[in-house]
Amino acid sequence: MHELSIAMSIADLALDEASKAKAKRIKEIDIEVGEWAGVDCDALLFSLDAVLKSDAILKDTKVNLIKHPPLMHCNSCNSDFKPSVQYIRQCEKCGAADIQLLHGRELSLKSLIIDD
Ligand SMILES: [Zn+2]
Repeated sequence: MHELSIAMSIADLALDEASKAKAKRIKEIDIEVGEWAGVDCDALLFSLDAVLKSDAILKDTKVNLIKHPPLMHCNSCNSDFKPSVQYIRQCEKCGAADIQLLHGRELSLKSLIIDD
């Protein structure tokens, strides 16, 4: 259960932030997930539901999952493009190898709204 451990670390992070802010409740959390992050979003939501409701601070927290489609950037022709396959090594526009992934593999707690 890969997603359960992710859900638990997200909850830990959220609780850390809540304690720093001395918050009694967290209203909402935004989680960014890239389509190539290797995460099953349904399983993640299911796990989060189970993890969050067992905690007093997190039990009414609304989860927003923000999904990012993959996006590549080519440093040679300076264009952004959506790759058609995952393990691409060349720009689909100019063929240069100097490319980087801008979005698609992220998995992070982006923000949270607390209630103090
Ligand atoms: Zn290019």
